[in-house]
Amino acid sequence: MYVERFENISKEDVGIAGGKGANLGELTQTGIPVPPGFVVTAETYNKFMTDTGIFNNIMDILNRIDINNTKELQQSAEKIKKIIIDTHIPEDISALIIEAYNALCQNIGEEDVLVAIRSSATAEDLPEASFAGQQDTFLNIQGPENVIEYVRKCWASLFEARAIFYREENNFEHSKVYIAVVVQEMVEAEKAGVMFTVNPSTGEDVALIEGSWGLGEAVVSGSVTPDTYYVDNKTNEVVNFSIADKKVMFEKSPTGETKQVDVPKKLRNKRVLSEDELVELTEMGKRIQNHYGSPQDTEWAFYENTLYMLQSRPITTLDESAEFGSSESEADSLEDKEIIVKGLGASPGMASGSVKIIRKIDELDKIQEGDIMVTTMTTPDMVPAMKRSSGIITDEGGITCHAAIISRELGISCVVGTGNATEILKENSKVTLDGKKGLVFEGEFKIAEEKQNEQTTVQATAPTITVTEVKVNVSMPEAAKKAFATGADGVGLLRTEHMMLTAGVHPNKFIKDGREDELIKILMENILKVVDVFYPKPVWYRTLDAPTDEFKTLDGGENEPHEHNPMLGWRGIRRELDQSDILKAEFKAIKKLREQGYTNIGIMVPLVQSPDELKKAKEIAEEVGLRPHKDIDFGIMVETPAAALCIEEFIEIGIDFASLGTNDLTQYTLAVDRNNELVAKNYSEEHPAVLKLIARTIKKCVEAGVKSSICGQAGSKPHIVEKLVEIGISSVSANTDAVTDVRHTVARYEQKLLLDVARKSKK
Ligand code: PEP
Ligand code: MG
Repeated sequence: MYVERFENISKEDVGIAGGKGANLGELTQTGIPVPPGFVVTAETYNKFMTDTGIFNNIMDILNRIDINNTKELQQSAEKIKKIIIDTHIPEDISALIIEAYNALCQNIGEEDVLVAIRSSATAEDLPEASFAGQQDTFLNIQGPENVIEYVRKCWASLFEARAIFYREENNFEHSKVYIAVVVQEMVEAEKAGVMFTVNPSTGEDVALIEGSWGLGEAVVSGSVTPDTYYVDNKTNEVVNFSIADKKVMFEKSPTGETKQVDVPKKLRNKRVLSEDELVELTEMGKRIQNHYGSPQDTEWAFYENTLYMLQSRPITTLDESAEFGSSESEADSLEDKEIIVKGLGASPGMASGSVKIIRKIDELDKIQEGDIMVTTMTTPDMVPAMKRSSGIITDEGGITCHAAIISRELGISCVVGTGNATEILKENSKVTLDGKKGLVFEGEFKIAEEKQNEQTTVQATAPTITVTEVKVNVSMPEAAKKAFATGADGVGLLRTEHMMLTAGVHPNKFIKDGREDELIKILMENILKVVDVFYPKPVWYRTLDAPTDEFKTLDGGENEPHEHNPMLGWRGIRRELDQSDILKAEFKAIKKLREQGYTNIGIMVPLVQSPDELKKAKEIAEEVGLRPHKDIDFGIMVETPAAALCIEEFIEIGIDFASLGTNDLTQYTLAVDRNNELVAKNYSEEHPAVLKLIARTIKKCVEAGVKSSICGQAGSKPHIVEKLVEIGISSVSANTDAVTDVRHTVARYEQKLLLDVARKSKK
């Protein structure tokens, strides 16, 4: 089938109609009010490519491309796109599309109906970049000629340089990637937004509805702070709502384009949805959820008092253990449980299972799905086994050690720094751990589901808009999708250490053995996983911060010097300036990715102590052809009191941003080794000295118009974040598990600041 109406498509048809098309078809078949439309199927794309003879021609070009030769890649991509755009669509194909468009117009009873045209990827499990056009949406297209032109544009978008590069890098065959195109009547929404059929943060049976004026793009793109309503699914009662000051909206311009305009004054603070409309929406949400059998994340619009549903997809980020719709639980109470081990709560959540003590790396096989890993300290080799575990307990470490960082990213409960868990806990005994409070209890038991969800759920994209950007930290590239699902505004810290540790070979060994190319390739592959998922949102890549003790285990790591205190030793930018070939390889990898189209990368150098280090790092970037501030944002981490106290001098040399690394800043200010559980009680990011350095850094950045940020653990603590918002920080980068809480805190605090000003001006 080449062109098919929504009525004839179901969710089974992803292969021909793509994810979006199949979804809209399924909703239509279920009787949900979806604006009418049709899908130009993947087969049509195929037919166009083969009938016109351009397929072989394009494959020839693709086979000849050296994707590492950027210029060539870009030229070839342009050439292929031009071939597609310039190739006449054979009459038998265009006739089908035009016929479907005319039938749509006839059905609606209007001439030249305005439509939205969207690419619809046929293999939903492939990442976005393999279909650069997946996100392409062309609104307000009118008339058969234009429809044909934009369908062809969607087809061509399959061959953006970025998409070709990604497919080659990941061994997807170009010839097996197809694209369908959705053509749908535009709904000139008077009000629109999103609805989660259950609370996306807690799994509670309460719908969360966000709405604003005009087309839904304003809410979906985050251009406006929408009204928020919580409606109890059982009673249809509005249990909570807030009316926002809605400043902008999207509407159709007289020439047919979509444009952003100011919301008329009288509507800005007016409530968008009435009680009746909320009930109608909630009922619709329940119907859709019942149909799919799982909570849904939907888009809706009202036009002339009629409700339309525009999209529905599962809330994939809800904790799988959450039984939506049920608020009862067979909760055990914690009071009568015996605590057998205490440590530091490093990754929130409750977990129960059998203890498996890992003393040597070759014992990892004994960890089965759901076991509790107990070990002295985790290493990167343990990550696959950590993923199988339901909880992790370590003897050593503080809340910023390897086990803690990785567990938070994987969403696994973790208690670190117990001192003696490997001695006290018995192999195969059953325990339950509380990763928030740092407690390990005897026996296996359940706690209230609601609480558990609150703690362990990676929360769905609830588009609360904040002026202060809320970003996310990524240490394991394979966790990038999970991080993205938080709705973060970008990556405020992409750590390199894990990429290198999992490569198994010391970066310096690559250089010494004349294998720089291999090192660059490993870096590119890893960074790509993150910048692609987040594209076009910014990702700040932090250059390697390699402590000698951690890098010893690598092949080639036997030459690492022995240091009395590695935390005060040869790491961060000071080490990379001594081993500048590694830094160069990193910059080369970034340069190449930029040239492939990943323009969303920024560079951040760690552990700077003197402005001269920044200067030298920038010179090395220039040497490989990356021009700081011109080609790429270049900033520093403020992790030493020296950097905080001399921030003006760094600003003078030139930085686009400064990000507070409070894990190190705290340890260096207080003389407390962050990895030493014996002094963990002396470690506090809220010590007045640390707070003074933080405040100073932000203030000086604000004065100079430089962006300030935080990516240390303190940025994941809402009560600290409040203070930073007040001082004027530009962004906050939190751990995956904390992004939603932090965003809510930021939103509430920003509102409070506005309210304070408004109240003062009234007096
Ligand atoms: C920090 O020091 O706060 C930081 C974010 O860097 P890392 O934890 O990787 O040292
Ligand atoms: Mg640090």
